[in-house]
Amino acid sequence: MSFSELGLVPELLRALEAEGYTLPTPIQAQSIPLVIAGHDLLAAAQTGTGKTAAFTLPILHKLSGTSPRPLPRVLVLVPTRELAAQVGESVRTYGKQLPGFRTAVIFGGVGMNPQIDQFRRGVDIVVATPGRLLDLVQQRVANLSGVETLVLDEADRMLDMGFIHDIRRILKSLPAKRQNLMFSATFNPEIRSLAQTFLRDPVSVDVAPRNTPTELVEQRVHPVDKARKTALIAHLVQAGDWKQVLIFTRTKHGANRLADQLAKQGISTAAIHGNKSQNARTKALAEFKAGSVRVLVATDIAARGIDIDQLPHVINHELPNVPEDYVHRIGRTGRAGMSGEAISLVCPDEREYLRDIQKLLKREIPSSLVAGFEPGSLPDAAERERNASAPQSPRANHHNNNGGGHRQGQPRHRSGSGKPASPGGGRHAPGKPRHAGGGQRSSSRGASGGAR
Ligand code: AMP
Repeated sequence: MSFSELGLVPELLRALEAEGYTLPTPIQAQSIPLVIAGHDLLAAAQTGTGKTAAFTLPILHKLSGTSPRPLPRVLVLVPTRELAAQVGESVRTYGKQLPGFRTAVIFGGVGMNPQIDQFRRGVDIVVATPGRLLDLVQQRVANLSGVETLVLDEADRMLDMGFIHDIRRILKSLPAKRQNLMFSATFNPEIRSLAQTFLRDPVSVDVAPRNTPTELVEQRVHPVDKARKTALIAHLVQAGDWKQVLIFTRTKHGANRLADQLAKQGISTAAIHGNKSQNARTKALAEFKAGSVRVLVATDIAARGIDIDQLPHVINHELPNVPEDYVHRIGRTGRAGMSGEAISLVCPDEREYLRDIQKLLKREIPSSLVAGFEPGSLPDAAERERNASAPQSPRANHHNNNGGGHRQGQPRHRSGSGKPASPGGGRHAPGKPRHAGGGQRSSSRGASGGAR
């Protein structure tokens, strides 16, 4: 099923083509025709499934045959400012070829005046967090009486964050006759009761109720000093003989530097980011897909739209400072029912990011140290020199999994308490170090303990 078969207007098809999207994701294939047909929707979908486009595209499609009006016709409620910004950006990206429609992204913690001005000038699509929008409604700045389509995105998180009262108040300011779309990753009785109060005869769409993308991804944290991250990546890729690895960096500059350094070590690598031309990006992506480039280094924005089935390895060179980006990043692997591995290299000053990510995931990510790359184990200059000529370099260590190659007295994997892991404690695949403390789910606290 292609996007054109879903009945989208040519302007949207062109925008999708420019984004490099070739096929709709399952949630898009199911939701788009239903929304175009005017149904209310109750959709189970997580971040990473393409849910944003699943509601944005049909909404823009429906606006496309009309002209802008003074009052907003579409309201998208989201739990966080990051998500608001992301949805706003999606609306702008997909709607690029549909000139004239104005989008306002509204959230708290910033000055209200520019938002007031936007409403005064007129907006067609409002993407908002509930608290600030309610303020604007109560101040009679935001008039929602013209809303035809309401989207509640990540409804479960909105309830978790205590937005239910604000949402109910906002619902009261909307016209009774409208189309309602609700997206949620989980469905507890509270969510179902909210759905019952405002959805009308909804059609349920459930793309992957059990095997959600993040569940198919084996996640792991490797604590490591910042200065040794690149060496650790080279080590993991080479020791594990990884053929297709997507690496995320936080900055464009960082992406270039990492790509250069890996290339110098003989690992074929390309980088994609906002400063590269569309042609260069398309070429790099094609080579990566074809397997002629082994490593692709990307920034979050550039990686949007990368859709590679069966991508086995994702590495976070740095953790993203927006926890949702982590979920997006690791969602690149473990697609289409395949399992994948997502490794995050975490240096001591990123522990707070890790905490935020684990809070969002509502689970701890197993953490393990890689022999020779333990934080604080950066060899001094003299030692580096010795290592350079001696066979006991970290890389040599790791190729020799039976423990023969590591330096005397230095445990290969340590638990957070500093206890050595049991000697010769079983086999582990190259590039797949054992877990700190020998347990399957050792704690990140243990791992950062090792960093102290
Ligand atoms: P979402 O679940 O909406 O957060 O989207 C996850 C990511 O998938 C975003 O980076 C989108 O840009 C990307 N994406 C959405 N739809 C498609 C598609 N049909 N093909 C490729 N990438 C997509």
